[in-house]
Amino acid sequence: MPGPYAKFQIPAECGCYYPDVKRIMDLKKSDGSYVRILSCELCRKSYEIPLDANKFPRDFIKKLDKEGKIMARIE
Ligand SMILES: [Zn+2]
Repeated sequence: MPGPYAKFQIPAECGCYYPDVKRIMDLKKSDGSYVRILSCELCRKSYEIPLDANKFPRDFIKKLDKEGKIMARIE
């Protein structure tokens, strides 16, 4: 199983890391909280993790507020 590509990286709940675990989208929930949807290609599972708005650029949060969700670019 591949390890993290950066020290700060946190494994998904299944224990896998990017690039096996891909970001699907970020969204703002109806209760005002922000979440990131991840999907692991090895385990075929999806995860929802909370996003701390204070740790993201203001422009990103503004866009999320306006659009409700931001899809990750799928390559
Ligand atoms: Zn996995």
